[in-house]
Amino acid sequence: MSVLAVRGLSKSFGGVRAVSDVSFAVAPGEMLALIGPNGAGKSTLFNMVGGQLPPDGGSVLLGGDAITGLGPRAIARRGVGRTFQVTATFGSMTVRENVQMAILAHHGEVWRFWRPAAERHRAAADALLAQVGLAAQADRATGVLAYGDLKRLELAIALGNAPRLLLMDEPTAGMAPAERVGLMHLTRHLATERGLAVLFTEHDMDVVFDVSDRILVLDRGALIAEGDGPAIRADPAVRRVYLGT
Ligand code: ADP
Ligand code: MG
Repeated sequence: MSVLAVRGLSKSFGGVRAVSDVSFAVAPGEMLALIGPNGAGKSTLFNMVGGQLPPDGGSVLLGGDAITGLGPRAIARRGVGRTFQVTATFGSMTVRENVQMAILAHHGEVWRFWRPAAERHRAAADALLAQVGLAAQADRATGVLAYGDLKRLELAIALGNAPRLLLMDEPTAGMAPAERVGLMHLTRHLATERGLAVLFTEHDMDVVFDVSDRILVLDRGALIAEGDGPAIRADPAVRRVYLGT
């Protein structure tokens, strides 16, 4: 069964149809890339799946259950994780503490006096940090991390919520090419290992073709193509609107 199924999803802003009757599904362990030019509707689609925006029409199913129109917290509780920008992390806290907080939040534990509770999740936090290659940075303040390491921390924080679906909207923005490839290979590895479904956007087509199982192409709100790397590369409509050839 699919982790996520989107059916006929639509959203307009004023007269602009940002997302128009889009349907697709994501399987467990699958890396699904969503590509398309700027303004194609990618972020709008992410925001409807994550609960940040209510759709005008259509439905969103998670493991077969409708989550359409639920808010971000309710959707996160049902197992949808999202990577957030660096600024969302707490810079003066250590790397480990940031992950401990994410695990605490997942368990719905007390926030005000979080330190004693967080200690119970120290080993779990360290295990996640090891998986994203940040074990050696666990005791450092988050604010001093290199940009690429912050991106890995964002991933560990998202995984702290034990998601079955992970939404990554431009996760590699601002990273050097080699780091981009590294982060997405790591994500690919985690998806396979955990059976985690990943829906992501990425501008670097080499990275998209390298790490995705399947690719969706959006243009002006509509899904114009869907397939694996070779199929998408060869698709005339995609070449016209997106690859510019
Ligand atoms: P992408 O992420 O693919 O670049 P977006 O989903 O951000 O595309 O935007 C799709 C379209 O919807 C664009 O025309 C954009 O200007 C418009 N749009 C997105 N968010 C809003 C908003 N909050 N209010 C008005 N228009 C918006
Ligand atoms: Mg966007």
